[in-house]
Amino acid sequence: MNMRMADMTLDGNAIGGLLREIFTMEVTNAEATCAGCGAVNAVGRVEVYVHAPGTVVRCPACQQVLMRIVRGEGRYWLDLTGTRTLELVET
Ligand SMILES: [Zn+2]
Repeated sequence: MNMRMADMTLDGNAIGGLLREIFTMEVTNAEATCAGCGAVNAVGRVEVYVHAPGTVVRCPACQQVLMRIVRGEGRYWLDLTGTRTLELVET
């Protein structure tokens, strides 16, 4: 099957389930500030590449990698280098 990269892009809601396994608070409503361009995006609106090794989340404004999430046996690796801040609101 020949798929273009655009076909592999999902929005942040695609990682809602994965993030719920890691965080106790609802993360898709959280706002992530890009460390590259300073854009503030709701996590539900970021670009998610699930066919990359692990899950890669990119800034819709500048394409910088905001998050990398790799799930292994009994553990997760969460790389937030590209996210300056993550603002979570209590519900
Ligand atoms: Zn950015």
